[in-house]
Amino acid sequence: MMKDTGTGNYLPLEAIMDPGAYVLDHLQTTEVSLGRHVACCIFHKENAPSLSISLHKSAFHCFGCRANGTLDQLAAEIARIKYSGEPR
Ligand SMILES: [Zn+2]
Repeated sequence: MMKDTGTGNYLPLEAIMDPGAYVLDHLQTTEVSLGRHVACCIFHKENAPSLSISLHKSAFHCFGCRANGTLDQLAAEIARIKYSGEPR
């Protein structure tokens, strides 16, 4: 599990315990197949969802801006945006 301790980001416990559930809780997602969801990307502005989230692989990938990583990282980024008040 990767942890970014250098930036002093506030990471809520639920995001650490179950990053997949945290992501689905905080993004408007559509389940396209079992364990696979799509959502509008938080890393670039868009109207059509191109952020693919795989609960099985515990990973995400954006077909728009090519952001990718683990659900831990995605949960951390959601938490950062949420608590910094930055619009997505
Ligand atoms: Zn993107």
